[in-house]
Amino acid sequence: MPEGDTIFRAARTLHRALAGQTVTGFESVLPKLERVEIDSPITGRTIEKVEPVGKWTLIYFSGDLILLTHMLMSGSWHIYRPGEKWHRRRDDMRIILRTEKILAVAFKVPIAEFHTADSLRRRRVFNQIGPSVLAEEYNDAEILQRLRRRPESTVGEALLAQSLLSGIGNVFKSEVCFACGVHPFRLVATLTHNEIECLVDTARKQLSANVLESSTDGPVTYSGARRTRRTSDDGARLWVYSRQGRPCRRCGTAILTRKQGPGVRSTYWCPECQPMVGEKTVTGWAGPIPWRSSGSK
Ligand SMILES: [Zn+2]
Repeated sequence: MPEGDTIFRAARTLHRALAGQTVTGFESVLPKLERVEIDSPITGRTIEKVEPVGKWTLIYFSGDLILLTHMLMSGSWHIYRPGEKWHRRRDDMRIILRTEKILAVAFKVPIAEFHTADSLRRRRVFNQIGPSVLAEEYNDAEILQRLRRRPESTVGEALLAQSLLSGIGNVFKSEVCFACGVHPFRLVATLTHNEIECLVDTARKQLSANVLESSTDGPVTYSGARRTRRTSDDGARLWVYSRQGRPCRRCGTAILTRKQGPGVRSTYWCPECQPMVGEKTVTGWAGPIPWRSSGSK
């Protein structure tokens, strides 16, 4: 599943490429979207802005029309110059948005809908999305409160619950827990205020830093190499994610993994650096790890 940072990065790139331009052509293989082009053409409208909301991308057109897409596992938006060769198969194309200079192509987006501001407000699932940890109007107090509303949930599940706060995907879930020394299977109820604050703050820092690493041109893809460690070694850019059985970069203990939550997503942690509260005493724990520091292992 694409993480919030990649959606954000893509939305920003799309915004830069499309905002202020007039649509010169619209194509879709999705009958419902095609119908809109026939009934109230997208061609001729101005693209006002492109915005990420959690894992959704919203493209706003003049005349109260919004294209909502969700990437789920396989979808992506690419930007091409007219005539440029595509990086994905034509069969995977779902939407083409043309302007004079740019071709924005959505490949395999599983959800794509047109909305007015009104119908978007009424769309239930969309409205259940919590504040994005990357949103400018990001509100610490509100996010802390939202997490507290799920005391019986495990920390790992709560971080992925898009209704609580949006943007954190499966990779950052494990990385954020590690950075804060929090066992991902602890219940939210057992978290101290400082721990919750650390989780939210670290999530924001890690995700923002990955946004800043975006490039301004080229195709927009969702396979960007996420990193939570500053190192030139690409094989060492994460602390725990996908490192089961390998030594913790901080203490050398073997990293563990277990499926978690109804989505059975893999979770990774170091049993030494992230003890279960009450199960083990914390040894050598010196507060959260500044995420940018490079480990020695
Ligand atoms: Zn460790």
